[in-house]
Amino acid sequence: MKYIFVTGGVVSSLGKGLIAAALGTLLENRGLTVTLQKFDPYLNVDPGTMSPYQHGEVYVLDDGAETDLDLGHYERFTNTKLSRANATTSGQVYEQVIKNERDGVYLGKTVQVIPHVTDEIQRRITDLAARSGADVVITEIGGTVGDIEGLPFLEAIREFAQEAGSGNVCFIHVTYVPFIKAAGELKTKPTQQSVAKLREIGIAPHILVARCEQPLGKDVRSKLSMFCNVAFEAVIEEKDVDHSIYEVPLMLQRERMDDLVCRTLQLNLPPANMTYWQDIIRRLIAPQHQVRIGVVGKYIELQDAYKSVYESLKHAGAANDCGVQIEQIEAEDLETSDPSKKLKGLGGILVPGGFGDRGIEGKICAVRFARETGVPYLGLCLGMQVATIEFARNVLKLVGANSTEFDSQSDHPVIHLQETQRHIKRKGGSMRLGSHECLLDKGSLAERLYGKTQIFERHRHRYEFNNAYREQFEKAGFIISGTTPDDQLVEMIEIPSHPFFIATQSHPEFLSKPNRAHPLFEGFIRAAHKRLHHRPL
Ligand code: GLN
Repeated sequence: MKYIFVTGGVVSSLGKGLIAAALGTLLENRGLTVTLQKFDPYLNVDPGTMSPYQHGEVYVLDDGAETDLDLGHYERFTNTKLSRANATTSGQVYEQVIKNERDGVYLGKTVQVIPHVTDEIQRRITDLAARSGADVVITEIGGTVGDIEGLPFLEAIREFAQEAGSGNVCFIHVTYVPFIKAAGELKTKPTQQSVAKLREIGIAPHILVARCEQPLGKDVRSKLSMFCNVAFEAVIEEKDVDHSIYEVPLMLQRERMDDLVCRTLQLNLPPANMTYWQDIIRRLIAPQHQVRIGVVGKYIELQDAYKSVYESLKHAGAANDCGVQIEQIEAEDLETSDPSKKLKGLGGILVPGGFGDRGIEGKICAVRFARETGVPYLGLCLGMQVATIEFARNVLKLVGANSTEFDSQSDHPVIHLQETQRHIKRKGGSMRLGSHECLLDKGSLAERLYGKTQIFERHRHRYEFNNAYREQFEKAGFIISGTTPDDQLVEMIEIPSHPFFIATQSHPEFLSKPNRAHPLFEGFIRAAHKRLHHRPL
């Protein structure tokens, strides 16, 4: 078993997760099986209770774990199947240690960060290694070296490496080399200091990945090599990619990062064959056609809030040889001015998931525009709920129709709290989460897109379609095309008289991959292109 640890220095947001994932791609293509794991030093048990302003997207796994968006990169870049064993936070570690203490596991001892917390962290590495059966475990440590919260994790991986022995562990440190315009120079000092900090803890990186906006050049590389005690060829340049994040594996391969890792881990393997990956990138960056898609959300100014949705749109674009230009539309803006001004000329409109009432009326306006003007519509989770409310109000004429999430006194609660949620008071990990089965109606748009009637999608919601209104909706041409096998929970709705109007209670964006676009997104982009160019692709 081989272990790779990825740490970060100087600043956050360097894309450590992307580098870990891209390395995973390269190693898989060299014939290894890989699993990836994220350690997050915050005290929340999981990011499920954090706002997108704090955290970006919450990425949901099959088993219902609510995790960091880096796990999305891991799943999109590799074949690994992730579970809650792949995501650890300080909150979970301390929760376990305190539980052990109460259970008497440490009877007689003083419970301390070292060794009890660090042992629990190490247990989570070995546990994943055993569970996954992978050849290589890549562990990414969240945060930046120097953070107080991160120290137990760094101490744990130092101890772990000591036990595992050289040749079995590779430390990769991702840092930032800023370009100071006034001096016209790249500066290595922040990196030197962050490596010094790491060495103080007892970790000497084997590989340094230097994020930079300008090429490093020989001199800067030599300096980094000399003062950070890393071999010259182990200083990897990672310039910002021009087109697509999916280019990162190819960039790392050009820098021979996978060779270095294999050498450090004493693995003798044939080079990675990246032909199919190059093919994906060609379709992503040089498409024949273009479409503009409006994403109407509430966290539009945040880059990371709808990460998987944006990625899924790009994958679907690649599958259709279509570049997707994403128009990020702030839902609240549609409430104050004529929505058609912002929505006109779009190939398709997508409303993603969300919580709370801010922007809801704007999202409803966007759905109405899509429904009335024949613009393709794709609704995801909350996007299905607002489509339901819109239809209830404007077609069924149910005055005041709403979700009880936004109006607990609504006369027509067409969306309401799930029965199973009514007694739940706790907020953490308590929604309907993870992969659930759905059966699709034969002949429906959903069945045509998926090409089958039994599907599994991931979920994260508390509210659902109110079954008391089912008949009324169906009579008016709003079809329920997918439900749970017991027929109790509406999973998929569509309007067959519309060119493309479909919405799901699930989050299909968590299952899309660059080489395997999700059928709902793929169909949506196809329909958007057809509308704009009046012909099928
Ligand atoms: N707020 C809605 C619910 O809890 C939708 C959730 C979502 O879009 N993820 O049901």
